[in-house]
Amino acid sequence: MNRIRCLVFNAALGPLDYRVPEGMAVEPGSVVVAPLGPRQIIGVVWEAERLPGVDVPAAKLRPILQVLPVPPLPAPLRRLIEWCADYYLASPASVARMALSSNAALRGGGTVTEYRLTGHEPARMTPQRLQALDLLHDQQGTIRELAEIAGVSEAVLRGMVNGGVLEPVLVDSDRPYPQPNPNHAQPDLSDQQAEAAAKMVAAVKAHAFQPFLLDGVTGSGKTETYFEAMAAALEAGQQVLVLLPEIALTESFLKRFEARFGVPPVAWHSSLKSSERRRAWRQVALGVAKVVVGARSALFLPFPDLGLIVVDEAHEVSFKQDDGVRYNARDVAVMRGHFEKVPVILASATPALESLQMAESGRYERLVLPARFGGATLPDIRIIDLREDEPERGRWLSPPLVEALKHRLLSGEQSLLFLNRRGYAPLTLCRHCGFRFQCPNCSAWLVEHRLSRRLACHHCGHEVPPPPTCPECGEPDCLVACGPGVERIADEVAEIFPDARVALVTSDTLTTPAKAAEFVEQALNKAIDVIVGTQLVTKGYHFPDLTLVGVVDADMGLEGGDLRAAERTYQQIAQVAGRAGRGEKPGEVLIQTRHPTAAVIEALASGDRDAFYAAETEARRDAGAPPFGRWAAIIVSSEDEAEARESARAIGGTAPRLPDVMILGPAPAPLSLLRGRYRYRLLINARRSTEVQRVIREWLEKLTFPPGVRVAVDIDPYSFV
Ligand code: ADP
Ligand code: ZN
Repeated sequence: MNRIRCLVFNAALGPLDYRVPEGMAVEPGSVVVAPLGPRQIIGVVWEAERLPGVDVPAAKLRPILQVLPVPPLPAPLRRLIEWCADYYLASPASVARMALSSNAALRGGGTVTEYRLTGHEPARMTPQRLQALDLLHDQQGTIRELAEIAGVSEAVLRGMVNGGVLEPVLVDSDRPYPQPNPNHAQPDLSDQQAEAAAKMVAAVKAHAFQPFLLDGVTGSGKTETYFEAMAAALEAGQQVLVLLPEIALTESFLKRFEARFGVPPVAWHSSLKSSERRRAWRQVALGVAKVVVGARSALFLPFPDLGLIVVDEAHEVSFKQDDGVRYNARDVAVMRGHFEKVPVILASATPALESLQMAESGRYERLVLPARFGGATLPDIRIIDLREDEPERGRWLSPPLVEALKHRLLSGEQSLLFLNRRGYAPLTLCRHCGFRFQCPNCSAWLVEHRLSRRLACHHCGHEVPPPPTCPECGEPDCLVACGPGVERIADEVAEIFPDARVALVTSDTLTTPAKAAEFVEQALNKAIDVIVGTQLVTKGYHFPDLTLVGVVDADMGLEGGDLRAAERTYQQIAQVAGRAGRGEKPGEVLIQTRHPTAAVIEALASGDRDAFYAAETEARRDAGAPPFGRWAAIIVSSEDEAEARESARAIGGTAPRLPDVMILGPAPAPLSLLRGRYRYRLLINARRSTEVQRVIREWLEKLTFPPGVRVAVDIDPYSFV
């Protein structure tokens, strides 16, 4: 009987059974087009025994329409999809969809027509044409993509094609990438590096599951060291996946990779053009793309022959996805390694407590690089007590920090000021009546952005221009900015040091990989004296002449008070401190705080990481928090406040009573209004040994909710808002 079960890409449907028509060949993992009512739907053929379905009589089965021209999803990836669906309480289809992330790729190879400038001037110049000529320099893409880049309509570009200003280029979407050469430029490793590399190389050669925690101080050469393991996988003809927490880091990684292996790796991230996405996806699936570096979504690419997975800056919070399928890419990477039977390297200078605990218990092998490469020393860390060394009124930089900045400017060295807050000021109010600007869709203040002249919500993207008068009392010119954001710090630096060249580095300024590359270039060429940035500048960068790091407000991260607040603060400040003194000149770090005796701050000042982690570990153990206990959250939301509250109560009212499970709530979420939806939360705290997923699944299965209500489950949550 040629009956098959398919995961179909429709969130409302479970797996469906189909018939395979005579002459069509499918196997588990095949990507197919199937009929659904009058429409067609994409699905993946699955092992029927692994996916419960509905028993439809054979006579009623409809035939598959087409097998798409892509290799079947490999078995280890199918196991990973099942695991994720089960662990994160998501539908298998929504996880599988992350693996089939390029629709165009599924239709096979082929040619795309892209366009580029010919160098001819248009016969008649218009402002739009001028703008396009300006912005499309060195660009190539489809008309739609170019229209986006140039900020003009597609019609304008078509006119330019007709006038011979733009010309078509046929691009083969299956053209292979150049192959990296494992022996292109082998470095001389230090003894410690060589020892760590040897263990990872041996694991690659063994082609067995083996998680490593590569725990090395900032500047110890973790990248060079894991490059050796990548070289071993390349020698064996296998593929390698490298996950980075932010696109902004990709650019400098590409450069270093190219220096070591001769060609850049394949990049995978959300700002790829659709033709690039199609090519990358297909080349990965065909086994031709050997090394892929990407954001967390690269984790679900269909590698047929993976030999190694690397997660760099593995402690980063951005590996946790907080919408759609709520997964943690670091943990899923380890599971993929398990199913693929390959080593996984988690690299970090400030590992997550969870990862350290895994190393402690022997499940991960810990490799330590205790010293900076090439004799560079770790920076000197000094605390500035803001209660004693107060900044001037309306300023945020204390006299000692200003003094240190001046020193660097005089000696031609670079400085970095870190404040993890975008924009100019986090709150704007009316001096006259006290009115505060709040987001209409969220329970959050609007953040003033002076560069873009907007008041913006950082949760939903709502934006308004600052009004000339107070919307409440009508008073003109009465708005005051409260508190600092990076833009305000940059202004302050410019006021104090008018000649200093200041670069503002946030997700508002480094919006594309090209802009990130430009920033790196300028910093390396010493065209920048002072960098002012958010967490975007805390990691990955290596600027040898940067010798001063100033942490503007070390207390900020501690205010939220969630489970990981102290750990996160420690990681962030240790990482940003790690940018100082990476070259020949020693570095200095100044930390501004009002709580110099807080455990985190003292640990940073004394450099006693172990003591800090030990204390945190004990606190977590006492609280039954991860890694000793488990947390899960249920978030109930609706545009209707009463509906959200009632649904949350219904969930709370049917909570299971189990000895090892504690359920808190429902209560309004700290962000009780988000993107126009009212939110309630329940928190579940369970023993490590509890199958918390099964408990939640059975609990929620019994309930039904009004159509406007969304119930999301967050396993191992990172965000508690
Ligand atoms: P980490 O990622 O641990 O902070 P990096 O990998 O960025 O450290 O290394 C810091 C700097 O030292 C980089 O410029 C890197 O190229 C250099 N480096 C590290 N190890 C070596 C080596 N064995 N040979 C040459 N340069 C190295
Ligand atoms: Zn908002």
